[in-house]
Parts: sequence; C-alpha cells; structure tokens
Amino acid sequence: MTIPANSICNKTGGPADPKWLKELDLAYDETIKLLDELAACGHDYKVLECLVLRDSPEEPTWCGLSKTSGVVSMNPHKHEARAIAHELGHGFEEVWRSKPGHREIGDPMCEAIRFFVEKRLGSDKRWKPREDWTIVLDVCCHDLEKFKKELDGKIAQLARE
Ligand SMILES: [Zn+2]
Repeated sequence: MTIPANSICNKTGGPADPKWLKELDLAYDETIKLLDELAACGHDYKVLECLVLRDSPEEPTWCGLSKTSGVVSMNPHKHEARAIAHELGHGFEEVWRSKPGHREIGDPMCEAIRFFVEKRLGSDKRWKPREDWTIVLDVCCHDLEKFKKELDGKIAQLARE
C-alpha cells in the first residue's frame, strides 16, 4: 500500500526526491501491515489523513486530528523517510492510551513501532532506537509477539510508575 498522491501536500517549493519518496512508500507500506496486525489484536491506529512535506528544520511531527486520523509533517531534505513509521506510531499510541486503565507512553511506543518496521524492511543502515526511548522495547525484549501481549499488560503498568 502506498500513500495516495492526493494525500501528500508538498510545501517545499520543489519536487521531492523520487528515491526518498520510494523509501517513504516502502516504509509506509510495512508500517500499515504491522499496524493492521496490531488492529487484528484489538489495537486500532489512526489513519494518515495527509502528509505535509516542508523545508522547516523541526523534527518530523504527528498531529492527531480526530479519534481516527492525523497529519504527519516531514522535511524530505533532512528527515529519514522511514521516520514515517515512528510518526504513525503516535496515532497508534493515542488510541492505545485512550483505553481504560492505560496512560500516555508517547515516544517509546512509537520508537518500538519503528523498530519492528525497520526489522522487517531489513537494512544495512545503522538505525537504532533513541536511547531515551527504549522502555517499551526493553519491556518486550525487542520481540513483536511479546510486544503484542504487553500492550494490555506490563507496558500499561510501566506507564503508571
Ligand atoms: Zn515522536
């Protein structure tokens, strides 16, 4: 699954690098496959309403629009295309934390999503989760099946501590 062209709003003033866009689509496709798997376990995510490309120097950002969708902003000249996985992870985390008894975990959850996507994409790139965002991965021992189980277990406990 690729991002529909009409969902990409390019405000950079120039065409985005086709190589970057290709990497973006690969990462998006793998992220949606993973999120669909998690949805099948009862953990929904928010769909990408729009991807805004801009030249601004900030980090990639996610903005939840509603209970079911959100917007991602990225700089195609500065940000790794695969960062889309982390940003879509925010939509997943927003749904997750809205469940009774759950609390905000934020970036460590999103970093876990990117980790599992990176693993599937395979890479010789040396991407590593940010060191201050590894608590979710640590709890599930970097294992997807454990992660699925922990979604309604220890991750919630950790968030409460
Ligand atoms: Zn984030």
